[in-house]
Amino acid sequence: MNKSDSERIAAGLEKRGYQPALSAKQADLIVVNMCSVRQSAVDRVFGMPMKLKGIKAKKVLTGCILKKDRKNLEKIFDEIWDKKDLFLKQYHRLVRSTVSYVPISDGCNNFCAYCVVPFARGRLICRPYQAILKEICRLVKNGAKEIWLLGQNVNDYQSGAINFTELIKMVNDISGEFKFFFMSPNPKNFSNELINTLAGCKKFGRYLNLPVQSGDDAILKKMKRNYTIKQYQNLVKKIRKKMPDINLSTDVIVGFPGETVKQFQNTVKLFKKINFDIAYISKYSSRPGTIASKLKDGVPSEEKKRRRNILSKLTKHG
Ligand code: SF4
Repeated sequence: MNKSDSERIAAGLEKRGYQPALSAKQADLIVVNMCSVRQSAVDRVFGMPMKLKGIKAKKVLTGCILKKDRKNLEKIFDEIWDKKDLFLKQYHRLVRSTVSYVPISDGCNNFCAYCVVPFARGRLICRPYQAILKEICRLVKNGAKEIWLLGQNVNDYQSGAINFTELIKMVNDISGEFKFFFMSPNPKNFSNELINTLAGCKKFGRYLNLPVQSGDDAILKKMKRNYTIKQYQNLVKKIRKKMPDINLSTDVIVGFPGETVKQFQNTVKLFKKINFDIAYISKYSSRPGTIASKLKDGVPSEEKKRRRNILSKLTKHG
């Protein structure tokens, strides 16, 4: 999502006559697109004054900025651009590669206990489907071969009467040689209708990221994910039955507050059962404002590392 936002910012600036600079020293303007999902990313932005020492360019910050950080960041950057303005402005991007990212929504109405997105990016807003289709048509005409539909909770999409399944059908009907993908759906909203539609879409790229986050029901409940492992496994079963050639990846968090060794073993069991192609494994880190930030982050960092290493060996592609 941030990569796509950065592309939109770059294209918007190019439309206003800016050219990419070869180095920070030669630049007139530096735009930093911040992500607040992990503390390590936030720390990198706070470390920027050291990096940008002696650079004369105007320094602008945009992206996911938490309220509590804003005041201090205002002291570091010359200007802060609102993320929402960037999303709503329909910057026409230039196709620089055959892979193009098309945001269809931004923000999220779910409040998963560990996640800062609803605070950093706000509530769900969806782009009108006509604008999305128009953008994809243009990208395909300009040579795009892979279209990625992006949203924090992509299958919550709704534009008037058009839901995510309807949008998928319309994307599939766009003429031209391309494949489409999307990120990231929430398993709790993944309907049978969506599975059947995807199975019938020739242009769907047969890759699905289906974040599970934990293999233990008690932890999922604490995470406020609103599905059980049985429901998740049934969903995977249905998807694989309809699309046997699907490549499946997942996101998982190890060391969520209170996660015992036994509960982690349930995630190990799930990994062995499902045999994901790829897994994006994060060590839990507390994010301000979230429900989980009030819980004791009791799993030591070394143990989180150990759990991450175990899971990373249990996927087809490491
Ligand atoms: S659905 Fe995704 S983006 Fe929304 S709160 Fe949960 S983890 Fe965050």
